[in-house]
Amino acid sequence: MIIGITGTLGAGKGAIVNYLIGRRFKHYSVRAFLTEEILRRGLEVNRDNMVSVGNDLRAKFGPSYIVEQLYLQAIKAGGNSVIESIRCPGEVGALRKKEKFVLFAVDADIEVRYSRIVGRASATDRISFEDFIAAEQREMESNDPYKQNIRRCIEMADHRFRNDWTVEELHSKVGAVLGKVVQGSPTTSKISKRKDVLSWDDYFMSIALLSAERSKDPNTQVGACIVDSTKKIIGVGYNGFPIGCSDDDLPWARKGDFLDTKYPYVCHAELNAILNSVGRNLSGSSIYIALFPCNECAKAIIQSGIKEVVYLSDKYADTDSIKASKKMFNMSGIKIRQLIPKARSIIVSLDLTNE
Ligand SMILES: [Zn+2]
Repeated sequence: MIIGITGTLGAGKGAIVNYLIGRRFKHYSVRAFLTEEILRRGLEVNRDNMVSVGNDLRAKFGPSYIVEQLYLQAIKAGGNSVIESIRCPGEVGALRKKEKFVLFAVDADIEVRYSRIVGRASATDRISFEDFIAAEQREMESNDPYKQNIRRCIEMADHRFRNDWTVEELHSKVGAVLGKVVQGSPTTSKISKRKDVLSWDDYFMSIALLSAERSKDPNTQVGACIVDSTKKIIGVGYNGFPIGCSDDDLPWARKGDFLDTKYPYVCHAELNAILNSVGRNLSGSSIYIALFPCNECAKAIIQSGIKEVVYLSDKYADTDSIKASKKMFNMSGIKIRQLIPKARSIIVSLDLTNE
């Protein structure tokens, strides 16, 4: 079954997608598709290129090209998939003609949605409630089937969900509908291997992120995972104080007298992963970390023989520490690579009572 997701801004499309991923649905998104295409063209991934490359593809290959490509990928992979996010009535029309397609829509009270958007927006892209309403109304006016009109898409959905309360409540509503929809869909008798497995990159990055959950630092939790050239994990670590140095006695503060802050004591995740590594021969290995490494860790990475740094975010790119890291990585020929993950989230449940 292939479920398309539509819904207003802040309504909870992501929450439904995460729920379906937890139910082993493969995830396809217009954003991921465009990101791949932008990288293939050697351009920078940003909002402007998202719009221009999207428009270019639609002009060349037809207005519903992108969602139809996602549908094809999903059909090829087999099993259950979710496609987000469908915004134009014309896209719904094109997918409607295809087999096994069901459209889910989610909406919520506009004030609730506004407060969610404000909650997750960075300071620079906060908008006022009035602007939020006005922008949304503008996007819902068009009669052109290939212009964004989410209101119309919601009307065309097979199942509509309200999400004014909690994520748990939304998940249980989606679960109930899913039970009915899946029951009604044809099952295949041939059992083939799972194709929706985690990619290697997403797997190692997830191990790094999971390791971060062990960190007792109240402000920053970072994990690192070192992988050799045969894809074996040879070291993991997270930020914390050295062995024997009490987490309760040493300070966790970020401000104050140097000796009263965490800085002189804390070992970063990258350094711990290097020091914890199995056998210590790290030549030619890769290190996976959520944040671009600081200059101190960069030195340790270079000296240990690691040859590649894979990271998710470079949000401190403007700091001298990160500039120094890049200078040293560059000089010593270390490859740096920003990971564009295929999976959006991985839900690890330790509760098997409902399996
Ligand atoms: Zn560091």
